[in-house]
Amino acid sequence: MATIEYVLGDITEQHVDVIVNAANSSLLGGGGVDGAIHRKGGPEILAECRKLRAGHYGSGLKTGQAVATTAGRLPARWVVHTVGPVWSATEDRSELLAACHRNSLAVAAGLGAKTVAFPAISTGIYRWPLESAAEIARAAVADAPVDLVRFVLFDRAAYEAYARP
Ligand code: ADP
Repeated sequence: MATIEYVLGDITEQHVDVIVNAANSSLLGGGGVDGAIHRKGGPEILAECRKLRAGHYGSGLKTGQAVATTAGRLPARWVVHTVGPVWSATEDRSELLAACHRNSLAVAAGLGAKTVAFPAISTGIYRWPLESAAEIARAAVADAPVDLVRFVLFDRAAYEAYARP
Protein backbone atom coordinates (compact mmCIF):
# COMPACT_ATOMS: atom_id res chain seq x y z
CA MET A 1 0.00 0.00 0.00
CA ALA A 2 1.32 3.41 -0.95
CA THR A 3 1.66 6.17 1.61
CA ILE A 4 -0.42 9.18 0.52
CA GLU A 5 0.69 12.62 1.66
CA TYR A 6 -0.35 16.21 1.06
CA VAL A 7 1.95 19.22 1.07
CA LEU A 8 1.54 22.89 0.31
CA GLY A 9 4.25 23.78 -2.19
CA ASP A 10 5.74 23.87 -5.65
CA ILE A 11 5.89 20.59 -7.54
CA THR A 12 9.03 21.63 -9.43
CA GLU A 13 10.97 21.53 -6.15
CA GLN A 14 10.02 17.98 -5.15
CA HIS A 15 12.74 15.39 -4.65
CA VAL A 16 10.78 12.40 -5.90
CA ASP A 17 11.30 9.96 -8.76
CA VAL A 18 8.42 11.32 -10.83
CA ILE A 19 6.51 14.58 -10.94
CA VAL A 20 3.28 14.53 -12.90
CA ASN A 21 2.58 17.43 -15.25
CA ALA A 22 -0.94 18.67 -15.94
CA ALA A 23 -0.05 19.08 -19.62
CA ASN A 24 -2.23 19.89 -22.60
CA SER A 25 -2.64 17.56 -25.53
CA SER A 26 -0.08 19.38 -27.68
CA LEU A 27 2.68 18.43 -25.19
CA LEU A 28 4.39 21.62 -26.30
CA GLY A 29 3.97 23.64 -23.13
CA GLY A 30 1.32 25.85 -21.65
CA GLY A 31 0.53 27.88 -18.57
CA GLY A 32 0.10 26.92 -14.92
CA VAL A 33 2.09 23.97 -13.64
CA ASP A 34 3.09 23.02 -17.21
CA GLY A 35 4.74 26.39 -17.74
CA ALA A 36 6.57 26.16 -14.42
CA ILE A 37 7.90 22.66 -15.19
CA HIS A 38 9.26 23.67 -18.60
CA ARG A 39 10.67 26.96 -17.30
CA LYS A 40 12.56 25.40 -14.41
CA GLY A 41 13.34 22.06 -16.03
CA GLY A 42 14.94 23.63 -19.08
CA PRO A 43 14.79 22.85 -22.81
CA GLU A 44 15.55 19.13 -22.55
CA ILE A 45 11.97 18.40 -21.51
CA LEU A 46 10.48 20.22 -24.47
CA ALA A 47 12.98 18.52 -26.80
CA GLU A 48 11.71 15.10 -25.67
CA CYS A 49 8.10 16.27 -25.96
CA ARG A 50 8.76 17.33 -29.55
CA LYS A 51 10.20 13.88 -30.31
CA LEU A 52 7.07 12.25 -28.89
CA ARG A 53 4.97 14.48 -31.14
CA ALA A 54 7.11 13.55 -34.14
CA GLY A 55 6.68 9.85 -33.32
CA HIS A 56 3.92 7.89 -31.62
CA TYR A 57 1.94 10.94 -30.46
CA GLY A 58 1.64 12.71 -33.80
CA SER A 59 -1.84 13.98 -33.02
CA GLY A 60 -1.02 14.78 -29.41
CA LEU A 61 -1.72 13.09 -26.10
CA LYS A 62 -5.38 12.23 -25.54
CA THR A 63 -7.20 13.23 -22.37
CA GLY A 64 -6.45 10.67 -19.68
CA GLN A 65 -3.27 9.32 -21.32
CA ALA A 66 0.20 9.66 -19.75
CA VAL A 67 3.74 9.64 -21.13
CA ALA A 68 7.19 10.15 -19.58
CA THR A 69 10.14 12.39 -20.42
CA THR A 70 13.32 13.41 -18.65
CA ALA A 71 12.90 15.97 -15.87
CA GLY A 72 15.82 18.01 -17.23
CA ARG A 73 17.28 20.20 -14.49
CA LEU A 74 14.56 19.44 -11.93
CA PRO A 75 15.36 17.34 -8.87
CA ALA A 76 12.91 14.63 -9.98
CA ARG A 77 14.17 11.92 -12.39
CA TRP A 78 11.22 11.97 -14.78
CA VAL A 79 8.20 14.06 -15.68
CA VAL A 80 5.07 12.10 -16.51
CA HIS A 81 2.84 14.28 -18.68
CA THR A 82 -0.89 13.67 -18.54
CA VAL A 83 -3.84 15.58 -19.95
CA GLY A 84 -6.67 16.25 -17.55
CA PRO A 85 -10.24 16.78 -18.71
CA VAL A 86 -11.65 20.29 -18.95
CA TRP A 87 -14.46 20.67 -16.38
CA SER A 88 -17.95 20.30 -17.79
CA ALA A 89 -21.15 21.09 -15.90
CA THR A 90 -23.20 19.01 -18.34
CA GLU A 91 -21.03 15.92 -18.90
CA ASP A 92 -19.50 13.68 -16.23
CA ARG A 93 -15.79 13.44 -17.06
CA SER A 94 -14.78 11.97 -13.69
CA GLU A 95 -13.56 8.73 -15.23
CA LEU A 96 -11.09 10.66 -17.40
CA LEU A 97 -9.73 12.51 -14.37
CA ALA A 98 -9.33 9.20 -12.52
CA ALA A 99 -7.64 7.71 -15.62
CA CYS A 100 -5.04 10.52 -15.61
CA HIS A 101 -3.99 9.49 -12.14
CA ARG A 102 -4.03 5.74 -12.76
CA ASN A 103 -2.23 5.96 -16.10
CA SER A 104 0.41 8.31 -14.68
CA LEU A 105 1.05 5.86 -11.86
CA ALA A 106 1.28 2.94 -14.30
CA VAL A 107 3.85 4.84 -16.42
CA ALA A 108 5.78 5.76 -13.27
CA ALA A 109 5.78 2.19 -11.98
CA GLY A 110 6.91 0.99 -15.43
CA LEU A 111 9.98 3.23 -15.12
CA GLY A 112 10.74 1.75 -11.71
CA ALA A 113 9.67 4.89 -9.83
CA LYS A 114 8.79 4.49 -6.17
CA THR A 115 7.82 8.07 -5.32
CA VAL A 116 5.42 10.19 -7.36
CA ALA A 117 4.16 13.76 -6.89
CA PHE A 118 0.90 15.02 -8.39
CA PRO A 119 -0.44 18.55 -8.77
CA ALA A 120 -4.18 19.20 -8.52
CA ILE A 121 -4.81 18.13 -12.13
CA SER A 122 -7.57 20.01 -14.00
CA THR A 123 -8.24 22.48 -11.16
CA GLY A 124 -6.52 25.47 -12.75
CA ILE A 125 -7.05 26.53 -16.34
CA TYR A 126 -9.38 23.51 -16.80
CA ARG A 127 -11.65 24.82 -13.95
CA TRP A 128 -12.56 21.54 -12.20
CA PRO A 129 -14.00 22.35 -8.74
CA LEU A 130 -11.43 21.57 -6.06
CA GLU A 131 -13.58 19.44 -3.76
CA SER A 132 -14.69 17.20 -6.59
CA ALA A 133 -11.21 16.89 -8.13
CA ALA A 134 -9.77 16.05 -4.73
CA GLU A 135 -12.28 13.27 -4.14
CA ILE A 136 -11.63 11.71 -7.57
CA ALA A 137 -7.84 12.03 -7.29
CA ARG A 138 -7.70 10.54 -3.80
CA ALA A 139 -9.81 7.55 -4.82
CA ALA A 140 -7.76 7.00 -8.00
CA VAL A 141 -4.44 6.70 -6.15
CA ALA A 142 -5.74 4.57 -3.28
CA ASP A 143 -4.09 1.39 -4.57
CA ALA A 144 -1.12 3.02 -6.29
CA PRO A 145 1.64 0.63 -7.46
CA VAL A 146 4.39 2.78 -5.85
CA ASP A 147 5.57 3.46 -2.28
CA LEU A 148 4.66 7.13 -2.00
CA VAL A 149 2.13 9.43 -3.64
CA ARG A 150 2.51 13.10 -2.69
CA PHE A 151 -0.09 15.64 -3.70
CA VAL A 152 1.63 19.01 -4.00
CA LEU A 153 -0.93 21.78 -3.64
CA PHE A 154 -0.03 25.24 -4.76
CA ASP A 155 -2.36 27.27 -2.56
CA ARG A 156 -4.19 26.87 0.70
CA ALA A 157 -7.62 26.28 -0.86
CA ALA A 158 -6.27 23.34 -2.87
CA TYR A 159 -4.38 22.04 0.14
CA GLU A 160 -7.50 22.11 2.29
CA ALA A 161 -9.59 20.33 -0.34
CA TYR A 162 -7.08 17.53 -0.88
CA ALA A 163 -5.73 17.06 2.64
CA ARG A 164 -9.00 16.97 4.55
CA PRO A 165 -9.29 13.90 6.78
P1 ADP B 1 -5.07 22.33 -15.63
O1 ADP B 1 -5.00 22.84 -17.05
O2 ADP B 1 -5.00 20.82 -15.55
O3 ADP B 1 -6.21 22.93 -14.87
P2 ADP B 1 -3.14 24.12 -14.30
O4 ADP B 1 -1.66 24.07 -14.40
O5 ADP B 1 -3.84 25.32 -14.81
O6 ADP B 1 -3.66 22.76 -14.99
O7 ADP B 1 -3.58 23.93 -12.79
C1 ADP B 1 -3.53 22.73 -12.08
C2 ADP B 1 -3.18 23.03 -10.63
O8 ADP B 1 -1.78 23.23 -10.51
C3 ADP B 1 -3.84 24.30 -10.06
O9 ADP B 1 -4.36 23.98 -8.77
C4 ADP B 1 -2.67 25.27 -9.95
O10 ADP B 1 -2.84 26.17 -8.87
C5 ADP B 1 -1.53 24.32 -9.67
N1 ADP B 1 -0.16 24.79 -9.90
C6 ADP B 1 0.28 25.80 -10.69
N2 ADP B 1 1.63 25.89 -10.60
C7 ADP B 1 2.04 24.90 -9.75
C8 ADP B 1 3.31 24.48 -9.22
N3 ADP B 1 4.45 25.08 -9.57
N4 ADP B 1 3.32 23.43 -8.35
C9 ADP B 1 2.18 22.78 -7.99
N5 ADP B 1 0.96 23.14 -8.45
C10 ADP B 1 0.90 24.19 -9.31
